[in-house]
Amino acid sequence: MGLGTTCIRGGWAPGNGESRQIPIIQSTTFRYETSEDMGKLFDLEAEGYFYTRLQNPTCDLVAAKIAELEGGSAAMLTSSGQAANFFAVFNIATAGDHVVASNSIYGGTYNLFSVTMAKMGIDFTFVSPDCTEAELDAAFKPNTKAVFGETIANPALTVLDIEKFARAAHAHGVPLIVDNTFPTPIMCRPFEWGADIVTHSTTKYMDGHSAALGGCIVDSGSFDWMAHADKFPGLCTPDESYHGITYAERFGNGGAFITKATAQLMRDFGSMASPQNAYLLNLGLESLHVRMERHCSSAQTIAEHLASHPHVSWVNYPGLPGDKYHELAQKYLAQGSCGVISFGCKGGRAAAEQFMKSLKVAHIATHVADAATCCLHPASSTHRQMSDEELAAAGVPGDMVRLSVGLEDVADLIADIDQALDRA
Ligand SMILES: *Cc1c(COP(=O)(O)O)cnc(C)c1O
Repeated sequence: MGLGTTCIRGGWAPGNGESRQIPIIQSTTFRYETSEDMGKLFDLEAEGYFYTRLQNPTCDLVAAKIAELEGGSAAMLTSSGQAANFFAVFNIATAGDHVVASNSIYGGTYNLFSVTMAKMGIDFTFVSPDCTEAELDAAFKPNTKAVFGETIANPALTVLDIEKFARAAHAHGVPLIVDNTFPTPIMCRPFEWGADIVTHSTTKYMDGHSAALGGCIVDSGSFDWMAHADKFPGLCTPDESYHGITYAERFGNGGAFITKATAQLMRDFGSMASPQNAYLLNLGLESLHVRMERHCSSAQTIAEHLASHPHVSWVNYPGLPGDKYHELAQKYLAQGSCGVISFGCKGGRAAAEQFMKSLKVAHIATHVADAATCCLHPASSTHRQMSDEELAAAGVPGDMVRLSVGLEDVADLIADIDQALDRA
């Protein structure tokens, strides 16, 4: 089936007389006839539900749809994209371990890795996504357990050379984890290029309506844990907190990663998606293929308009010929990239501030990937504590505006941008 069909029909196949929409199982608890029945669930000997902190049927239906869209073997929802990235890495890296990550990633993820997970004893080496194969190779250590990158980085809009990063990861016997939030599986399926684990902030395009925070982890099922058993004792040796189960033996390459993340990390951290939010996410998924096409085509039109605008000094958009990442985008994002553009206002920071003040249609919001167009001036909001020099060094110059192109009529968006640029 095509991706559009999976967007609507994946995960839930109602039987005769059953609801067209997925049922919302708004229950924390599930009842059993005997404690032996329930005991089998605790031992992971039978499949079923006992407590929503670990698993819930509504969440599992939606995770199954996302797994189908990505072409993966198993998936789990999390309460946020932050939780998804934390679990994806922490499931295989622990105190004393090391991870190689692209330095062009979402600021929240960078902070999670470089501050919070560093406090937990996990060491990160950040590399430029544009590094050579030799530079990438040199970043590995004997205790490296994973490689991490973003398909299209938020907000830098760098495009990851997934094959280059997958080759390096596999040469060192570790998986490549890719945050695929911006393109979604409609525009890129990282498993087809060698990635092993995919994560999402479903808060962005998948939900698409600013309605529900969420995240997802998808396993490709293709990484052979047992072949690198010395590196991954958590998957390849008995888990004493789960009656001595060895996940990679019991659940194979297709099921071990997600089962361990559910049985250990959800159990202990509880960053679970709510069934209500899973339902809302599923509504977003039903139109994801249609919305992504429109986000991308409108963004392409607006990026081209900005590139030739006399009041604009520069434009970053991977779909623009001449963009630093255009060639990689043609390979990995042949149908389109995403709806987010960044550009510079001629006249610098003051002009950018005036541009923001003059917008009438676009919302001023930190959010991206919404049906409504959102606009942000990082220098005076998310990055306002930084000096002009620090801003330039961070790749967030004072003249920079980030525009997340929504689903409004593109002519209305262009008219709004033009009148605001005139005032700037
Ligand atoms: C927003 C975002 C996150 C964090 O997701 P939340 O749902 O806000 O926790 C992670 N990665 C990327 C690429 C994002 O855009």
